[in-house]
Amino acid sequence: MTLEVALFPCLSDNYGFLLHDAETGATAAIDTPDAREIAAQCEARGWQLTEIWNTHWHPDHAGGNVALKRRYDCIVRGPEQDAIPARDVTLSGGESFEFAGRRVEVIHTPGHTDEHIIYHIPSAELAFVGDTIFALGCGRLFEGTPEQMWESLSQIMALPEATKLYCAHEYTLSNAKFAVSVDGDNADLLAAIKDAEAKRAAGEPTVPTTVAAEKRANPFVTAGSAAELGRRRALKDKF
Ligand code: ZN
Ligand code: FE
Repeated sequence: MTLEVALFPCLSDNYGFLLHDAETGATAAIDTPDAREIAAQCEARGWQLTEIWNTHWHPDHAGGNVALKRRYDCIVRGPEQDAIPARDVTLSGGESFEFAGRRVEVIHTPGHTDEHIIYHIPSAELAFVGDTIFALGCGRLFEGTPEQMWESLSQIMALPEATKLYCAHEYTLSNAKFAVSVDGDNADLLAAIKDAEAKRAAGEPTVPTTVAAEKRANPFVTAGSAAELGRRRALKDKF
């Protein structure tokens, strides 16, 4: 059975994601940027939310937890962090759990926040990566170091190349402007930007991206070392 992923814009530039298995009815919201929008998207499809999987505590990722928990009485999984509202199951990375008969692997990816985690489903070749990696970008280092982010990106790049990466924000075109400023000779990057521009012009999301695409085009991956990642991240913060 195939898992269905519904993706929809929330807030100013977040994406909401629903993961659904038609056979069991299991439905997970990955992060809760906007409880009303997530509930409306469930209603429109006739889905009942059974789980919430949080990637990190930021309000644009966990802000809808309480309202959705109240409405659906769903299980809330999230990192070991006080600021995850209504959490039932604590995760820190390295564990796995079952969703609709599939194994979901939890990976600790510090850098953006200390306890950031991502959710990888090997059998579906996809991962929900929160604010760790974006198409042509990576999360700001609010709580972690360049070394941690480099290690986190390396873990994501170690997933199979076809793995789809569901990033939590539509940042691609603004990331592209910075990316060309540091890696403008990279033909794969220029091709990725063309592709992203065409998608946005057609009103389509640039998410998901893939491990293969980011390996070749993402300036924080092609940085090649934690030190260079740190240098580029500092440049981008002021870009
Ligand atoms: Zn965040
Ligand atoms: Fe965010």
